Amino acid sequence: MTYNKKTIEDIAVAGKRVLVRCDFNVPVKDGVITSDKRIVEALPTIKYLKAQGAMVILCSHMGKPHNVFDAKLKLDKKEIAKIDALPEEEREAATAAALEKAKKDVKKLSLQIVADKLNELLGGGVVFANDTVGEDAKAKVAAMKPGDIVLLENTRFTAREEKNDPEFSKELASLAEIFVNDAFGTAHRAHASTAGVTQHAGLPAVCGYLIQKEISVMGKALADPERPFVAILGGAKVSDKLNVISNLLTKVDTLIIGGGMAYTFLAAKGYTVGQSLLDTEKIDYCKDMMAKAEANGVKLLLPVDTTIAASFPNPIDGPIEVSVVDSDKIPDDMQGLDIGPKTMELYAEAAKSAKTVVWNGPMGVFENPTLAKGTIAVAEALAESDAISIVGGGDSAAACEQLGFADRITHISTGGGASLEFLEGKDLPGISCLADATRKIVIAGNWKMNFTPSEATAFINEIKPMVAGKDNCDIVFCAPYVTIAAAQAAAAGSNIKIGAENVHFADKGAYTGEVSAKMLTECGVKYVIIGHSERRQYFGETDETVNKRVKAALAAGMTVILCLGEVKEQRLSGITKEVVSMQTKLDLAGVTAEEMKRVIIAYEPVWAIGTGLTATPEQADETCGQIRDALVELYGKEVADLTTIQYGGSMNDKNAAELLSKPNVDGGLIGGASLVPAKFTAIVDAAQ
Ligand code: PEP
Repeated sequence: MTYNKKTIEDIAVAGKRVLVRCDFNVPVKDGVITSDKRIVEALPTIKYLKAQGAMVILCSHMGKPHNVFDAKLKLDKKEIAKIDALPEEEREAATAAALEKAKKDVKKLSLQIVADKLNELLGGGVVFANDTVGEDAKAKVAAMKPGDIVLLENTRFTAREEKNDPEFSKELASLAEIFVNDAFGTAHRAHASTAGVTQHAGLPAVCGYLIQKEISVMGKALADPERPFVAILGGAKVSDKLNVISNLLTKVDTLIIGGGMAYTFLAAKGYTVGQSLLDTEKIDYCKDMMAKAEANGVKLLLPVDTTIAASFPNPIDGPIEVSVVDSDKIPDDMQGLDIGPKTMELYAEAAKSAKTVVWNGPMGVFENPTLAKGTIAVAEALAESDAISIVGGGDSAAACEQLGFADRITHISTGGGASLEFLEGKDLPGISCLADATRKIVIAGNWKMNFTPSEATAFINEIKPMVAGKDNCDIVFCAPYVTIAAAQAAAAGSNIKIGAENVHFADKGAYTGEVSAKMLTECGVKYVIIGHSERRQYFGETDETVNKRVKAALAAGMTVILCLGEVKEQRLSGITKEVVSMQTKLDLAGVTAEEMKRVIIAYEPVWAIGTGLTATPEQADETCGQIRDALVELYGKEVADLTTIQYGGSMNDKNAAELLSKPNVDGGLIGGASLVPAKFTAIVDAAQ
């Protein structure tokens, strides 16, 4: 499943009430949050929305408060049955005691504890509502001002949440003007606050940074992995991983099996597995999967040796006597509880030689220190590997964190079940319900060597109110380096973004006068023009150096405005198409489909830049279309359709409307007219 969804950056949020579904289902012990990972991971979205001046309404579930029905505390069927079985005279007291206990259990699941943590992490300012859609929530939401944050009480304090009740969804939706889903951990559930809420007309729904990160890292690994691609699957039961195994066998180069489910595979191979966990009904399935692996040319690795014991540890973390045998020699009275040392080496070797590794599920009973060695060996191999390493949530994520390897893993998912369903290729209802990404219209100014810092400040202050609320296009001004900070300060809180006009490809070093992508991003600069014709003409820029700059800027997380176009002689000799197609290929060599989400192409016929000559709308449309065709060849139609291709070359207030009306022209890169507020605003108006 690949998702291309609109994100919080694709929608105007300033001054709007934004309902954000987070996953604050954090582990709590004795009133203390034992891992705040999910809260920390939600912060980028919350901070962005706050900085943009949105009114941020957070909601989440926590745990399974089974005794709450329609916001009232009631005993569930099981408890009622238990009480009914008691002698009549004991029932009243037992009911009161059960209700009292339920009250305490439910109270433990209040999100007040998360509000306190958020206040600690954000330095205060988070208001907690004592209910989800009740009087308190409504009053607190009504009193919000831009930049305020309110956290609603646990969405599961009504059974209507998990039933995806339309009325409850509607009440939630009525609190806000925009919905953001950032709860990857619950994205596989169609509940009221994850999916139902998007069914209410007029509530645009987009994803937050966390969901964006999860689907882009895991989506890329599945759709376009760097190879060799190795998947390591563990966990107790084959039946939990049926679809994952089958789906991964169509994608990976090596599939590694460990944990309890390995014994069913060993049995399918004809080995006897003693008292080990065995899913007899799934032996045929394992045989099918082994045949599928062979047919697809996938290496399937099973444990070659096994750590065995006479019984399962009791208590689970208690002392246990173990020995190691080859996997085909497990005695009848013993059971396998972890992979053995030869297997650890084999699996670690495979993980280290991979370019992409996905891991989900422990290799043994890792709660027990004696039986945790296999899981530790895999976690360590991932940490030491140079591969893109992705750990599905749940036990394997917890293992990486407990072992202190987390910061050496590329991506640890915040979703257990959700990441598994994603690897299965299943549709996640909390994500599929969000708006699909569309091609963005971008109007960008190239100030060239104009404007001192004070002039830039005056310009932005003048144009800011003129373009306010014109949100159907992104507005960017690319400024000389020394002017950037002043322009950023003036543009703060508005819909104007400030970029740079060039970037060097090296991170740092002896390049006098140059500036690196890292320097720009640390200054909060997200956009950069690369390959402008004036740099190609006067500063010896070639497609090779353009390509290096593009890759460096993308690697630093920037959005690139890549300029290309033909010179007059090339147009006159009728080779424009060949020229722009070749430039597209050379300038984007090595750029991945995922990175293309941050590439804007500016088609700029060199003969039209700063000359007062403009391509006709038909010429602009035709050549932008030829660039798009080159993108189809490189990346396929989906990526090509989503790439913004601007026209640049004497675009102004007079010709903009006609140029922008063309289907392949997705905005403009504007030089001269970007220095005059009224002219630039007229172009922004034309883009609306
Ligand atoms: C440019 O510099 O990118 C440009 C298009 O300039 P002008 O609009 O002045 O032709």
